[in-house]
Amino acid sequence: MNLEKLNDILKTEPKFRYAQVNKALWQEHISSWEEASSLPKALREKLMAECPLEINAETFKSKTGPKSVKALITLNDEEIIETVLIRQKEARNTVCVSSQVGCPLGCAFCATGMGGFSRSLSSEEIVEQVLFWERFLKTEGKGEKIGNLVFMGMGEPFLNYNEFIKAVKFLNNEETFNIGARRMSVSTVGITEGIKRLAGEQLQINLAISLHAAYDDLRQSLMPIAKKYSLHDLLRTVDSYITKTGRRVMFEYLMIKNVNDSEKDALELSSIMKKPLYMVNLIPYNATGKFRPSDRDRIDAFKKILEDNGVPTTIRLSFGSGIDAACGQLKGKRKK
Ligand code: SAH
Ligand code: SF4
Repeated sequence: MNLEKLNDILKTEPKFRYAQVNKALWQEHISSWEEASSLPKALREKLMAECPLEINAETFKSKTGPKSVKALITLNDEEIIETVLIRQKEARNTVCVSSQVGCPLGCAFCATGMGGFSRSLSSEEIVEQVLFWERFLKTEGKGEKIGNLVFMGMGEPFLNYNEFIKAVKFLNNEETFNIGARRMSVSTVGITEGIKRLAGEQLQINLAISLHAAYDDLRQSLMPIAKKYSLHDLLRTVDSYITKTGRRVMFEYLMIKNVNDSEKDALELSSIMKKPLYMVNLIPYNATGKFRPSDRDRIDAFKKILEDNGVPTTIRLSFGSGIDAACGQLKGKRKK
């Protein structure tokens, strides 16, 4: 898909064409200009030649378990990104969106981080992922819709803040996708500059922080970028975000066997998480490299300690591991 020339082409057209084109593209989710029957034939042909709508993607369906679908999208410069459709009960489809090709931050537990980094995505490339699933559901979805968007795919959204927020505003716009900001969540490794900027946006998007450790030294050994952002500074920034927005913040905590899942870890985590509007989401670790996932009873025991200490805690359901589409498994590569 390439819409760079769209505005130039529409400039010479009557004003109402913008609305017609927007409706066809972003609400009817046409895959070809031929379907845009409200437009005159000559304009359709010009658009067909100069603004290709095809999204070059390959999909992988999970045969077992929840019906997640992964798509590898090849961008115009041949870079490949991944996006996942998590199909839950009626109309509760969630789309997981990537913000970069790879990730420069190299967290020790994450397949995306291990795979290196090429570049950030443009807002159009971010939006294109959602459009791809809208088109997919139009043909395969029996009237299903996208319920939620999570910016938890490849990359760190706050290292691509401008394009990320431009995409959010576009997806939120009533004249295009009209997806409520309250149905969107963004996860950051803890880039405080981004958290501060988001607090000033007047958007009701949900914020999640990848915490994964209750101690600076452990956090730094898992996530190199934590050397730049101490837990103290990170939590202080989150506190100002909460004061400013009045919104809840979700702290993601991976459960990695014998690394961060002891009783001592749970107690320390409880002590730093016991604050109004903080909540913890425990994520069963999807094995990608040297680490192993915590046992289920360990996760349950960990949750109980947090709850007994007054910290609201949930355990994340995992989807898509059979197709390498679960959290932390997105590499933007085909399986050999
Ligand atoms: N870069 C951002 C957003 C993308 S990652 C961030 O790190 O927050 C989305 C979530 O998946 C993060 O919480 C990340 O820590 C988690 N994750 C990474 N590797 C994982 C793995 N192997 N198993 C489960 N979750 C993982
Ligand atoms: Fe990047 Fe997030 Fe993976 Fe860390 S966990 S390497 S920040 S995508």
